Amino acid sequence: MLAPEMFGPTITAGEILVEIMATSVGNGFLEPQPLIGPFPSGAPAIFVDQVAKLGGACGIIAAVGQDDFGHLNINRLQRDGVDVSAIAVLPDMPTGSAFVRYRDDRTRDFIFNIARSASGRTEMTDAARTLILKAGHVHVMGSALAIPALADILFEAIDVVKAKGGSVSLDPNVRKELMSEETEHRLRKVLAVTDLLLPSGEELFFASGIPQEEKAVEALLLSGISEIVIKRGRDGSDYHSHDSGHLSGPAFAVDEIDPTGAGDTFGATYLTCRRFGYPPAVAMRYANAAGARNVTKRGPMEGTSTFAELDAFIDS
Ligand code: ATP
Ligand code: MG
Repeated sequence: MLAPEMFGPTITAGEILVEIMATSVGNGFLEPQPLIGPFPSGAPAIFVDQVAKLGGACGIIAAVGQDDFGHLNINRLQRDGVDVSAIAVLPDMPTGSAFVRYRDDRTRDFIFNIARSASGRTEMTDAARTLILKAGHVHVMGSALAIPALADILFEAIDVVKAKGGSVSLDPNVRKELMSEETEHRLRKVLAVTDLLLPSGEELFFASGIPQEEKAVEALLLSGISEIVIKRGRDGSDYHSHDSGHLSGPAFAVDEIDPTGAGDTFGATYLTCRRFGYPPAVAMRYANAAGARNVTKRGPMEGTSTFAELDAFIDS
């Protein structure tokens, strides 16, 4: 069961970074080329920005450097209504960054500077504890679990929030570049207390250890997860629960400009709608719209949406 909005804000902890992207399609960064950015980014930051745009109470525990990359992120999140009180500004570390270039086959090459940036130095602070004490829901991004200190913060938040009857969601968000044995172990620990799982692609099989979709879903629901929403890019999404069975959510047809952030805005929209008390079918429709609208904008956080924007998009 997902804790309703009145139970307290949705919080997350994780990496904040800027994204700088190649403007041409091709393989990696072995030669000079035109780039565009910096854009505010980081899966947990995109997620929480989308919650705020929908009017959901939310906050993030994170760290940035005392530099323009950090300021631009804090300014954006604050403008959109995120509680930024638990974002530490570290004087001696740079803000995280990611360079991304799309290949012909729509896969992406990344160069990450996260673990050795301010994000990698995120610590539990008084401000973070204050935010955790208010929270009603914890969202975990698998990417944040790659950083040990962030994982510890997330586990503490989960313990506190679960103990008072709050809920947990997990987007495994497994990037092959960032996965290790320890990260996998932490993911499994979060899975054991997850109420809402938001996998995409292979992540469902990874989470369940079962290579067949129907059986994987059944096993995960039996393990105590109450809702599973599978993200399928341009093919939309599928919802499964013991209560409401299966619902399929058709995608909205759009011209994809930049796929980064679709999964994060989708998950944030689904969760926020459910916490506001919307039924799964309505939450799915808004989430599919949020993901589709996001990919029409260049920059991972540039396509986060308000309800008014989603309604206009759905009606168009
Ligand atoms: P990410 O690469 O950001 O981690 P993801 O794999 O978690 O992405 P996707 O499945 O790519 O998530 O996208 C989430 C949702 O956004 C999809 O289920 C769909 O509703 C919507 N979406 C994504 N891409 C498109 C597209 N090209 N056209 C229409 N809708 C899309
Ligand atoms: Mg994802």
